[in-house]
Order: sequence, then C-alpha cells, then structure tokens
Amino acid sequence: MTSWEDEKDRRNRQALTRLTKSLPSIFPPFVLARALGRPFIPPTPRLAIDSYWRAHPIRSDRLARALATRGGAPNGWTWQLGSNRRAGLPTTFRTPPAPYRERAYTRGAGFCCVCGQPVYRFGWHVDLWNAGANKNANWHCACVIAWEFWNAPSGEALLLRRLQARRCAQTGRRLWKSAEVDHRIPLFRVWKEYRDTPWPKLLDFWGSPNLQVINRDAHVAKSALEARDRRATYPLETELT
Ligand SMILES: [Zn+2]
Repeated sequence: MTSWEDEKDRRNRQALTRLTKSLPSIFPPFVLARALGRPFIPPTPRLAIDSYWRAHPIRSDRLARALATRGGAPNGWTWQLGSNRRAGLPTTFRTPPAPYRERAYTRGAGFCCVCGQPVYRFGWHVDLWNAGANKNANWHCACVIAWEFWNAPSGEALLLRRLQARRCAQTGRRLWKSAEVDHRIPLFRVWKEYRDTPWPKLLDFWGSPNLQVINRDAHVAKSALEARDRRATYPLETELT
C-alpha cells in the first residue's frame, strides 16, 4: 500500500470512530449507508446529512418545495424586489422569492429561512428524535442545497443532462459538450407574467420543472426570440437586473 492509501485509511478509521461516537440510535439509514460508502467518511452526523443532500440536488429541490407548501406564504406577503439589503428583499428577479428570508417575515431561530418550516437536529426536516426545533439552525441541510441549485442550476448540468438521456430538450438531438442549462420559461417572464402565482408554487420556476439542458445553438436562437418578444412586449423597460 502506498503511504497515501495508508493516510486515507488512517483518516477514515478516525472519521468512523468519531461518527460512531456521535451517532444517535435513530438516524436515517440511507444517509448512514451513503456516508459509510464514501471515499472519505464524514466524521459527524451533520456532515453525513450534508453530504447526502449535496449528492442529491434534485431530491433537495423537490423536498424544499414540498416543505414550503406546508405553511405557504406569510399573510400579506407579495413578491417584491428591493435595493435595501437589510430588508432582505431580492435585488433581482433572478433570485428565487423567499419570504422567510425577508426581515419582515422571518420566523427566527429554529425555522428554515427557505421553506419556513421547523429545522430539527442535524438540520434534518423531521423530528426523528423528538427533541423539538433546533434553535441554532435556520436552514435545513436539504434547503441549503436546493437554494444553491435554484441560484446556479448550471452547476448541476451533468446531472440534468443525464436525466434527459443526453438529448437536447429543444431539438431532441444529442447534447453537445457545450450544451447549456436553460429556464424553459425565462425568469424575466416569470417576473412579468407569473408574479402573482402563489408562493411556493412560484419556486417551481427555479426548480427542476422549469429547467432543461439545450444545445448552444438552440439556446442562442431561443434567447434571441425571447429578447425580441421582450422588446415587443415591454418596450419601455430599462435594461434588466
Ligand atoms: Zn427548509
């Protein structure tokens, strides 16, 4: 064995000891199974959960949207943009609307700022341990990953390509290496035409239901058409955020 493999082995034994020590008797078995199968075993239950969701961005996206439907939007909330950072309003329509991230509607410690639901031990979304909300947390591990995915879906291009069986969603042809992730309904239209969609249904426009991978040439053509429609429909609009 090379010294590198020795070192890896040593680190994994240490990580496994730490993980076993801190692992509660109840723990999601699929998360544990994945953690133990990693080339580097996560040394804490929290990191094991984080690593699980990180490997499953689409599942995180679905879960975050499903959790958000439990409470819906706070009374009186509407999707607004703003430039006051402290108010927590998004500055551009490209950011997914998240009422519970806004200062006026935040639910405080123990609640997730993405979906608005209680966060439990290890950032889990179910209180498997009957321990109540985790007052030190304001994100679910899954919602962190969903949030990253909604804001930068291109980061998961490989996964999205696989889900489309490597076919261009626009032309049905084989996807080239240069293919790009695209919002079927572009976000400027979401802001212009679908702004009153109830939250969290709005989030579908950032999630997998509105994402596709298309070849670069199809993307260029689609974007040109969208820009033309946009100029025709909203001629007075200043150039966009
Ligand atoms: Zn959440």
